[in-house]
Amino acid sequence: MKTQAAIAHASDKPFVIEEVELNDPGEGEVRVKIAACGICRSDLSALDGKETVEFPVVLGHEAAGIIEAIGAGVTTLKEGDDVILSWTPECGICSGCMRGEVHLCSGINMTTGSQGPLSLGGIPLDRFMGLGAFSEHVVVPQSMAVRVVSTLPVEHACLIGCGVTTGFGAAVNTAAVRWGETVAVLGCGGVGLAAIQGARIAGASRIFAIDPIEQRRIVAGQVGATVTLSPVDVVPLVRAMTVAGVDCAIECVGSIATMQDAFNMIRDGGRAIVVGLPAYTDLLDIPAIMLLREKKLSGSIYGSCSPHRDFAKIAALGESGKLNFARLVDKTRPFAEINEGFAEMRAGSFTRVVLKF
Ligand SMILES: [Zn+2]
Ligand SMILES: [Zn+2]
Repeated sequence: MKTQAAIAHASDKPFVIEEVELNDPGEGEVRVKIAACGICRSDLSALDGKETVEFPVVLGHEAAGIIEAIGAGVTTLKEGDDVILSWTPECGICSGCMRGEVHLCSGINMTTGSQGPLSLGGIPLDRFMGLGAFSEHVVVPQSMAVRVVSTLPVEHACLIGCGVTTGFGAAVNTAAVRWGETVAVLGCGGVGLAAIQGARIAGASRIFAIDPIEQRRIVAGQVGATVTLSPVDVVPLVRAMTVAGVDCAIECVGSIATMQDAFNMIRDGGRAIVVGLPAYTDLLDIPAIMLLREKKLSGSIYGSCSPHRDFAKIAALGESGKLNFARLVDKTRPFAEINEGFAEMRAGSFTRVVLKF
């Protein structure tokens, strides 16, 4: 079929919405009509050439929609099902999937190169994270479309596909925050604000939100941070306010300096969790002697979540108001205004711009 997709032809060029050719869903695949797709910071990095994508590419990986057609052998979904897209293929047979850690599936890939159902004038189009959801329709394996029955509006539900799950899960799954603990969240974009909410729901007693942008600190306070701080000289400040350091620090920036700050502000035996995406060549220096104090440093991807287990639960927290989605979306725009949306996200003060289809 023909559909409309936003093509990124090169880093320095605006998106062009063009008619593209989309193959019918094959064995085990489904076609999803996209209803809403958030603009995640990883989309900006990919557009800037910092991720492994091949231009021309269709970005977009934080989407909700409805099943429109199913291919042969699809048993888990049917036409009309509401779904949220997931970027782990959950292959079921790699070592990560065999351990039940589908967020570590070896099939996760930022690029699908020329392998995929989408083409423009005979030229195959890459799809970021195997999804390419800045498009009216996508064709994906059934494992990457997760049925979620929810009353959440689509412009909120789509965030479960990436930012909310990544941040919320980093707090409740990877860090496994326990009641009464002290938590610092470094970086208060969409992921950081979801981590703050995860810490709050897990029962953290004090949540330090650290960000250079005042507007973000204000929002952090609105979703559960108890103390908001600028990152300048923040380590001694947090250590002094907690006597021995926080139980847990969650880094949501992706810079070496904030990763070091996260490690240096945790107590002996505490956990530093890195969620932010560094450059591929970055190396992290930490004082190795501090490992003798049983300080722990861990990465976190996709909030250590299992989309088929966790998406519906996260949506339910949104429905009950425990997880505040409304404060995470600053603006919705029609799909046609994708370039304006990217410009707003790049300006920095917005948590999320969501495109509606
Ligand atoms: Zn796998
Ligand atoms: Zn994302």
